[in-house]
Parts: sequence; structure tokens; C-alpha cells
Amino acid sequence: RDSIKTFLRRNAFVIFTVAAVALGVVLGFALRPHNLSIREVKYFSFPGELLMRMLQMLVLPLIVSSLVTGISSLDSKASGKMGIRAIVYYMVTTFIAVFIGIVMVIIIRPGKGSRDSPVASSGSIEPVQAADAFLDLIRWGKSLVRLMRCLFYKTLYKKTLLTKNVTIVVNATDSFNSTDLSQASNFSTVLQTIQETVEEVVPVSGSSNGVNALGLVVFSMCFGLVIGNMKQQGQALRDFFDCLNEAIMRLVAIIIWYAPVGILFLIAGKIVEMKDLAQVGGQLGMYTVSVIVGLLIHGLFVLPLLFFVVTKKNPFTFIAGLLQALITALGTSSSSATLPITFRCLEENNHVDKRVTRFVLPVGATINMDGTALYEAVAAIFIAQVNDMDLNFGQILTISITATAASIGAAGIPQAGLVTMVIVLTSVGLPTEDITLIIAVDWFLDRLRTTTNVLGDSFGAGIVEHLSRQELQNQDVEISNSVIEE
Ligand code: ASP
Repeated sequence: RDSIKTFLRRNAFVIFTVAAVALGVVLGFALRPHNLSIREVKYFSFPGELLMRMLQMLVLPLIVSSLVTGISSLDSKASGKMGIRAIVYYMVTTFIAVFIGIVMVIIIRPGKGSRDSPVASSGSIEPVQAADAFLDLIRWGKSLVRLMRCLFYKTLYKKTLLTKNVTIVVNATDSFNSTDLSQASNFSTVLQTIQETVEEVVPVSGSSNGVNALGLVVFSMCFGLVIGNMKQQGQALRDFFDCLNEAIMRLVAIIIWYAPVGILFLIAGKIVEMKDLAQVGGQLGMYTVSVIVGLLIHGLFVLPLLFFVVTKKNPFTFIAGLLQALITALGTSSSSATLPITFRCLEENNHVDKRVTRFVLPVGATINMDGTALYEAVAAIFIAQVNDMDLNFGQILTISITATAASIGAAGIPQAGLVTMVIVLTSVGLPTEDITLIIAVDWFLDRLRTTTNVLGDSFGAGIVEHLSRQELQNQDVEISNSVIEE
């Protein structure tokens, strides 16, 4: 019995989180028949929104403090080597993900038989001539320019976020007007006031709305390098960021207790508001299957195999240690909001060296998105199939490159991948308005691809740690020598 107790105590967080997911699903389906209004769903999902905000609040100081301490605590040679290993891992795994996606969508052909399909295309297009090298060149140039815009200014997200917010406001107002005004009574006003007050108290400082995460990562890396080279003079700053990082992780340790509650309401709320599943038949259903099978192959077979080959450790024990982060990704649809939990799982459960997680994780969460890349490739080829457009090898190659680029450019926030899809579609001349075809299931696929993104970042940290053990040991020896000298 003692061993059961120890098991329960050790795995309390994970057990609560898994139970929360199950409860959320049950609660969501139980409430669906009651046809809650948008306003009621919003109130109901509020505990979940609070979790999102609490996590996002930590992201900005976490990215800065972990990168600055991570890089300044390594000598520049070690951090250089580690950085190169991480980038190679990101590129290789993202390409593999795209490849799997392409194979899946070509084998399953979810978009075939488009003409008599209920998911009709919104416009027909001329087949792009592959031999027209000049046009191809222009297209490549255009997508490159778009990519640069995406990476450095993130204008696309901002525009969409704004539009999205406006739509939500409009919807909320509609539902408000259409309800009997006497019902929108004092109670509703009180609820709204409480909600707004709490939202003020838990502000979002994270890399989601408006803050350029990539810019932040680059700045923090440069800053870390500089203070790392400042020798004794930089000690106070190094201590400061180290302490800041420790303090943030302690906050994470508290928030983690609230996570199951938040996840429960996030999932239940989403199930209550989702469209009728019966509508998602035919092509869209097969498209969803293609993405899911691709993600499963990548997350549960390819990445674990790679991890095993490189480290000779059991990849599934590693995944078990990450369970809470993976479920948080599923609940929040945001790899950047999940970052604090990912840190904790990797450091506390999987015992990955902090010098590695601090350096590699923030970068990974910003640019390494295997799930998003896979999904972008599947979605683009699905749209081509719906439009009866036969893609040649060059176009598929273009899709794989732009899907990789679009995944790098996507922010770690809900449905960012849907926005960067524009890059992939325009690169092969597909109608961007056809993104509307896949919106109905995107909230669900977003959760799954975010979970794959988090898994990819985490395996990356484990692999980079293994490959960098020599440098880490050298650093340990140097530190202990300097302590003995003192
Ligand atoms: N939601 C995803 C993430 O945060 C990005 C995407 O939309 O693909 O990782």
C-alpha cells in the first residue's frame, strides 16, 4: 500500500491533470444540449482563461531570464556548439515532419472528388505551369519577402488578431442584443465586472499579443553573450538574472497546482461552443484524419526513435515525464503559454541540465514547430486537391520549404499557423481565401499540433544535452577548479 501511496504522491499533478481532461470532456458534452449563449460560455470558460493569462504573464520574464542566464553561464564556444546542434535538430525534424505530412495527404487524398463535394472551393484557379521558371522565381521572391515580414514585423498576426478580436466583440454584442434585455441583468454586469477586474490583475505580459518573441530571443541571447564575457564585472547582472529565473520557476511551481482546474474549464468551454461534429464529415473529416495520423507518426514514432538512437534512453519514459506539459499544450493551444510547464517537466521530472533547457527551450518554443509545419503542408496540398490542381514535384518542394518557413514564422499562440498558411498557399498560387475551408476543424488540430510542437522542443533539449555532455562536463570541472582556487 505504501508503494501505491508513494506513486500517487509522486504523480499527483499528472493524475489531477489527466482527470481534469476527462472531467472537462464529460462536463462539456453534458452542457452542450443547454445551448449556452456566447456570453455564458465566456463566463464558464473564465477559470481556463485565467490559467492562460497566468502562464502568459510568466512567459516574457521567463524567456529573458532563462536565455540570459543560460547563455552567460556557458563559455561562448560551448554555447556556439550547443546552438548549432539545436538548429540542426530543429531543421532536420521539421523537414521530416513536413515529409510525413506530404506523404499522408498524398496517400489519403482527403480532397479528392471535389466537384460534388459539400466543401466547395471558393474559386477555380489555372494550373501553374512548372516549366515557367521565371514565374517560379518571382513567386519564390514574393514568399521570401513575406517570410521576412512575418519573422521581423509579425504584421500578419497583428492584423489577424485585431480582426479576430473585433469579430469576437461583434459576436458578443449580437448575442447580447438578441437576448432579452431584462435577462442581461445586474447579475451579468456583476459577473462582467469581476471578470474585467481579475483580467486587469493578471495582465498578459507574454509573447502573445504584439510582443515580438523572436526579437526578444535574439536580444536576450546577445545580452547573455555580452554579460557572459564581462568576467567579474558582470557577476552582479548574472546573479540578478539567475535569481529572477529561480523566482519565476517558483511561481510556476505554485501555478502548476491551478493548472488542472484551468485545463478542465478550457476543454469543457471549447466543447460547449464547438460546432456540431456531424457537419465535419467527408473531405474535412479525412483531412483531419490525415493531419492526426501524421502528427501521431511524427510524435510517437519518429521523434522517439531519433531520441533513442542518439541518447540510448527510453523515449517513452521521457514522454511520461512531460505529460503535464503535453496536456497543458492540448488545453491552451499555445506552446509559448505552455513554456513554463515544459521547463518544469524537463528539469524536475526528466532531469535535463538547466544550462541546456534555459538556452534551448525558449528558442525552440519560438522557432521549432514540427506539428505546425506538418499541418501547413497537409492543409496546402488538401486545398490543392479540392481545387483539382495537380501539383508537380517542384511545387511540392516549394510547399515543403515554405511550410518549414511558415512554421518558423508562426508565433506560439493559438491558431497562429492558420495565419502563416498564407505564405504556403501563395507560394504555389493557391487561393488564400480557401483557408476558410479548414477553419471549422482548426481549433482541434491546433491543440494537437501544439502538443507535437512542445514534444519536439522537449526531445530537442534531451538530444542537445546528450550531444553536449562533453562541454557541460568541462564547464563543471572549470567551475569546481575556480571554487577550489578561491
Ligand atoms: N498554436 C501553435 C503553437 O502555439 C501554433 C500554431 O498555430 O500552429 O505552437
